[in-house]
Amino acid sequence: MKYIGPHVSAAGGVENAPLNAHAVGANAFALFTKNQRQWFSPKLTSRSIALFKENCAQYGFLPEYILPHDSYLINLGHPDQEALEKSRVAFLDEMQRCEQLGLCLLNFHPGSHLNGISLDGCLDRIAETINITLEKTKGVVAVIENTAGQGTNVGHDFAHLAHIIDKVEDKSRVGVCLDTCHTYSAGYNIKDEESYHAVFKQFEEIVGWQYLRGIHLNDTKKAFASRVDRHDSVGEGFLGIDFFRRFINDSHFDNMPIILETPDESLWAEEIALLRGMIQN
Ligand SMILES: [Zn+2]
Ligand SMILES: [Zn+2]
Repeated sequence: MKYIGPHVSAAGGVENAPLNAHAVGANAFALFTKNQRQWFSPKLTSRSIALFKENCAQYGFLPEYILPHDSYLINLGHPDQEALEKSRVAFLDEMQRCEQLGLCLLNFHPGSHLNGISLDGCLDRIAETINITLEKTKGVVAVIENTAGQGTNVGHDFAHLAHIIDKVEDKSRVGVCLDTCHTYSAGYNIKDEESYHAVFKQFEEIVGWQYLRGIHLNDTKKAFASRVDRHDSVGEGFLGIDFFRRFINDSHFDNMPIILETPDESLWAEEIALLRGMIQN
């Protein structure tokens, strides 16, 4: 079964996210549990938490198919110790919010070396941050997203993901989210049929399917291997509709959140219906 939905707004409170997802016909969704552009946000109220759970239950959203995304400010591999600490505090807060909401996944970008530390040093720091955070929390899996490799962002190479996972102590609580726009921009050709299979074979060998916990299903406005992160609507960009048809019929992506981070929210209901309509039974 495919679980598909967009990254919805949580404006007015996290309890509104499941309502927004239901309104576009989703059976999965992503959200920010706090303002993603600020370091500090007020704590979730008990009323908000209760309503979130109630609304998820009412519309049939299970925690396994809800993929919260952390703040864009956080850099888990920051070269500067003080800045790293700030990110670690904020990341722990993100994890605790997920715990409070009864969620089991937290999706995040691994980090950036900012030319202040080696690539391997940065990956080691990210793993260390994950270890510290997992020790202080329960039940939430740290889901590392692959990146387009813009600037000094790490995580664009499958080997980076494997490096981090290798150094995480509790393997049951670390996973990966593949963003299809980032994958293509990073230089993995998932567009053409033959190389699609070759890329996912590489993923299987380097990372392993057992770690895949979610998908960001986006088209891209940028050409292959551009290392630039610009999402496009389903079928409108360089990946094209044939890619989406192949992807949505691939059983490797059953039973995990498939999240649309596509730019035109007026198209979300249509995009979900289009994807569901392409599934061949
Ligand atoms: Zn992301
Ligand atoms: Zn993404």
